[in-house]
Amino acid sequence: MDSARTPESVTVNGRTYRLPRQPTVAICLDGSDPEYTEAAVAGGYMPFLASLKARGTLRTADCVIPSFTNPNNLSIVTGAPPSVHGISGNFFFDPASGREVMMNDPEWLRTGSILATMSEVGVAVAVVTAKDKLRRLLGHGWHGICFSSERAAEAKEGETGFVDVCATVGMAQPSVYSAELSEFVLRAGVRLVEARRAALLYLSTTDYVQHKHAPGTPEANAFYAMVDRNMAALDRLGAVVALTADHGMSAKTDQVGRPQVIYLQDYLERWYDAGSTRVILPITDPYVVHHGALGSYATVYLERAERVPEAARRLAELPGMMEVLTREEAARRFELPPDRLGDLVAISAKDWTLGTSATKHDLSGLDAPLRSHGGLSEQRVPFILNRRTKGLADRLRNFDLFDAALNHVV
Ligand SMILES: [Zn+2]
Repeated sequence: MDSARTPESVTVNGRTYRLPRQPTVAICLDGSDPEYTEAAVAGGYMPFLASLKARGTLRTADCVIPSFTNPNNLSIVTGAPPSVHGISGNFFFDPASGREVMMNDPEWLRTGSILATMSEVGVAVAVVTAKDKLRRLLGHGWHGICFSSERAAEAKEGETGFVDVCATVGMAQPSVYSAELSEFVLRAGVRLVEARRAALLYLSTTDYVQHKHAPGTPEANAFYAMVDRNMAALDRLGAVVALTADHGMSAKTDQVGRPQVIYLQDYLERWYDAGSTRVILPITDPYVVHHGALGSYATVYLERAERVPEAARRLAELPGMMEVLTREEAARRFELPPDRLGDLVAISAKDWTLGTSATKHDLSGLDAPLRSHGGLSEQRVPFILNRRTKGLADRLRNFDLFDAALNHVV
């Protein structure tokens, strides 16, 4: 047997993937609620996507809960839920150290990715992200083209595939709070396929536009027109293009546009001794200007375990709350790692968010009515391929994307 021979498929986290036979591009369009593409198609802003009705696959899928960026990006690239890969939020409370820690370091990852295994068997893999925080998690365990548009100007040739990636893409390094941060990602993907630098690509954008602009608004439609042009360009190059989202996006405001927030820590401190409860908002990250760290999912730690049932009941009764689950219930239902959850998991209703204390959230940076995610109301995401597919499941998850693109296109 020739040990150097490339295999036809690889197995990652219990699922088998055929090696790409043509350039294959998986896109995670951050915060892309299906309402955005529906409105943009209806308005004539996405002619390419509209054409896929006849020749592609247009479905929706469920993302993983919490409907946050990191858990879902890691699910997509591992083909598995957070109970397998371990990333249950952007942020968690580490009981071992007693500290609240960012989960954007690869040390928290519990498994390898499809990207790493494909790279290991010789497939030319490339990853382009918008924000740099995701780059390290996605690039863990393999070497190759992997860079963020946030830091494109300082990335080296070995990381981008080009001597001067900004010149090749035709854009200066964009601001971290801009639509261009995502446009750079997609345009870089087109250039990488065109230059035959990569056979398997993962492109992950940022939800700056979706946090600020509702579906069907001029800003949202302009963004989706840009997405459509880049999808069409990849299609013309002969690539399989598969697109999903990490989560949807909902308005989190009352009828006059004010943010609706349940300040959990304030309630808990009214009910229980100071310091005996701790609320963790796993949406928290260094870039909170556009959502004030307010999402629809929180975990709660209680010093005294016997208080769990009563606290669950009281929290569930708060106006704007959708569900409060125990650690075990949440881990089972949402396939989450129980050791990285609080005693309780709280999920707010579609138009409400969960905060810690009113004094801890700076909403002064919100220059548009609050739109955010994290809960069950943001679970539906698009699942789109530019090819017909066969044998896909009735219920799709966003982390079936590589399976669909590599195993099911006809
Ligand atoms: Zn996101």
